[in-house]
Amino acid sequence: MIKLPEKINLAIRAEGERTYPDECCGVILGKLGDGEREVTAILPIDNEREAEERHHRFVIGPDDFMKAEKEARKLGLDVTGFYHSHPDWFSRPSDYDREHALPFYSYIIVSVEKGKAAELTSWELTPDRARFIQEL
Ligand SMILES: [Zn+2]
Repeated sequence: MIKLPEKINLAIRAEGERTYPDECCGVILGKLGDGEREVTAILPIDNEREAEERHHRFVIGPDDFMKAEKEARKLGLDVTGFYHSHPDWFSRPSDYDREHALPFYSYIIVSVEKGKAAELTSWELTPDRARFIQEL
């Protein structure tokens, strides 16, 4: 299960509002261990989608992912998942989100309604990749 400190929660909300009406996206960092995973930092990543798609699709490229892993190691942390925003949409994973997700990682989604951050949820994909389980 994921543990999300208030200041990280606020930081993800702020990112969602900053990039509105586009999606924000980034990596969440923490410590991998048994049971609870506490998020201790986030790394915002520039949304690589072409401009006209950016409001409803996010992509983290392999270069970004490698940079994030390197940054995490420098901080003595692990990449534990990803976050992105849903501008003017529910904080539920889309089919696209599921198709591009991997088991094990946490996927945080913040809904941003008319520029204001609203509901924030977190999801983990089942090992067979069939569905997401809500963890927050
Ligand atoms: Zn999404």
